Amino acid sequence: MILTPTIVLRMRSLTIVSGAAGLLLVTGCAGDPSPAEPTALTVAAAFYPLQYIAEAVGGENVSVIALASPGVEPHDLELSPSAVRQLGSADLALYLSDFQPAVDDAIASTGVTSFDAASAVTLHEAEHTEEEEGHEGEEDDHGAFDPHFWLDPTLFATYATAVGQQFAEIDPAHAETYTANAEALVAELTALDESFTAGLAQCSRRDIVTSHEAFAYLAERYNLEQIGIAGIDPETEPSPARLLEVRDFVQQTGTTTIFTESAVNASVAETIANETGATVAVLDPVEFVLDEDDYATVMARNLESLRGALACE
Ligand SMILES: [Zn+2]
Repeated sequence: MILTPTIVLRMRSLTIVSGAAGLLLVTGCAGDPSPAEPTALTVAAAFYPLQYIAEAVGGENVSVIALASPGVEPHDLELSPSAVRQLGSADLALYLSDFQPAVDDAIASTGVTSFDAASAVTLHEAEHTEEEEGHEGEEDDHGAFDPHFWLDPTLFATYATAVGQQFAEIDPAHAETYTANAEALVAELTALDESFTAGLAQCSRRDIVTSHEAFAYLAERYNLEQIGIAGIDPETEPSPARLLEVRDFVQQTGTTTIFTESAVNASVAETIANETGATVAVLDPVEFVLDEDDYATVMARNLESLRGALACE
């Protein structure tokens, strides 16, 4: 079950040259209007991958409050006062420190019991691009660590186990269920990892050019090399020098595909593709999902995109 709080979100798009942000007010509950059965736990999840784990591990015993709305990327999530109150009333908040400053602040100010994903998985240091470094000190959008750990299914499985332990501690009456649910999820993620390993074992190329540098964990796990056009924060605009560098890289390596996330922010990727004869394809960082998708379906599509782009057997 998902309870969606009223959230004020800042929409962002790389196609908006000025970077001007519009305000979108997302209201209400998209789901079932009938009164919900009370559940043992209410858990707030700061962004989609954490929500996915909370729902799978919690099952029927847990109501999940999704702080990030579907369709909006979670970097720089902003929270309305009512969303902060809902977060504060949860039994547990799942978040990742230094990823969404508004969530860090809300957890500190409400004193809600929280579980930081960074305490469960070992995060890589972020390799900031020059553009991002230029903003250091003036913006506090991204920390020193790369947040995108969920794109390595084995790290995501480690996190699922840790969430199962957290739920079991807070709600011991359902501890066995949480543990069993976490184990089932780990088995699914292990199978996903095996399909990536097998699917990417024999490929003509191993370089992936991405617009948003979200795939370092995935690249490390499957022995790929990520070349980011922009940076870890999708809002960062690449410099003309960086565009030239990436264009040269694409030409020298015979890269045939430039990955982007959606048609909305594909303009930079399309520019490089047009200049090099490469094509643009989607590689989804699973920071949010749309419609009937979930983590598993999007990751399955990602594997097919990679296999096509890298000419894997
Ligand atoms: Zn990201």
